[in-house]
Amino acid sequence: MAKCEVCGNNYDKSFEVHQGNQIHMFDCFECAIHALAPICSHCGCRIIGHGMETESNYYCCAHCASEDRIQAFEDRILEEVTQ
Ligand SMILES: [Zn+2]
Ligand SMILES: [Zn+2]
Repeated sequence: MAKCEVCGNNYDKSFEVHQGNQIHMFDCFECAIHALAPICSHCGCRIIGHGMETESNYYCCAHCASEDRIQAFEDRILEEVTQ
């Protein structure tokens, strides 16, 4: 039995998530996402896939990155298509 650090549920199938040198305890993935998933800098949604990362921001998709005038992700795709 281990207590979820988000909702406090004591659950026999709780699991640990190791991030850097920190260890977190959760009873479900929803709580893990709530605590750890980065937030898209444009639309504010939780990023639970690969997402995209600039030096200072995370984005959920190329569209959100381009809305914030970050073109690098799209440019890289276009280059691959035209070659
Ligand atoms: Zn929980
Ligand atoms: Zn987004």
